[in-house]
Amino acid sequence: MSGNGTKLGRVVLITGGMSGIGLATARRFAEANDVVSVIDRKATAEGKAIVERSGGRVFEADVSDFARAEQIVMEVTARHGRLDVLINNAGIARDHVLWKMTEAEWDQVVAVHLKGSFNYLRAASEIFRKQNAGRVVNLSSINALRGRWGLANYAAAKAGIIGLTRSAARELGKYNVTVNAVARGLIDTPLVAGLGEEERQRAKRESAQGRIGTPEDVAALIFFLCSEGAGFITGQVIAVDGGQTA
Ligand code: NAD
Repeated sequence: MSGNGTKLGRVVLITGGMSGIGLATARRFAEANDVVSVIDRKATAEGKAIVERSGGRVFEADVSDFARAEQIVMEVTARHGRLDVLINNAGIARDHVLWKMTEAEWDQVVAVHLKGSFNYLRAASEIFRKQNAGRVVNLSSINALRGRWGLANYAAAKAGIIGLTRSAARELGKYNVTVNAVARGLIDTPLVAGLGEEERQRAKRESAQGRIGTPEDVAALIFFLCSEGAGFITGQVIAVDGGQTA
């Protein structure tokens, strides 16, 4: 049962759902009785338990693999008879100031964030068009909306995700599919665990609430964007950053 007592049972696919925001999002949908499948480089015991209890499956795969994305989307759809929700969340960081950034650091970040999001959206769009229904949330970042020292690869990939989101929203709108992006501020996850105390304090000062966000803060917005009440919201970039960009 969901929070308002409605049985949902939607078929949900989340990339990078074994850690951080992806894991919190998997838990949020599973708690609402949705069937959650996850693609991640490596399964974790906690993530696997949540996914399998919901009736879904963990696929150990790299999101930048185009052919594998199509196989996984087809497999999930065949297994459950449909696909309702896609969350493009898998991400990595390879931070370096521009003049020290290697070609590999650029290529890896663009491949995981931007190509990975394209791969799954491309495959799911075929299903959504046939069903005449679907919900997509792509993870972007407030650093795609403003520049950031040492994050040229990441900011460029996350800005690309905004372009992908808006174009997909226009192309899929008439098929009753919504596509939105979530621009996150600093959220306490393993991805940012390596940040120094100075950086964390800076984010707290920038925030209107004086705190760093939690994975659950972001999962709540993602869940809302996939709810019935959000049916007229599409092509939008919504920040969840405690007012960091206010
Ligand atoms: P995280 O490291 O906790 O989780 C990311 C997950 O993605 C991991 O489970 C990882 O294994 C998986 N992953 C990485 N590369 C993959 C690949 N090639 N194929 C499949 N899975 C892969 O990080 P997080 O903070 O939860 O980040 C989730 C998303 O939010 C990312 O897109 C990230 O860039 C974005 N984001 C995070 C912050 C933040 O402050 N934490 C801020 C802005 C945006």
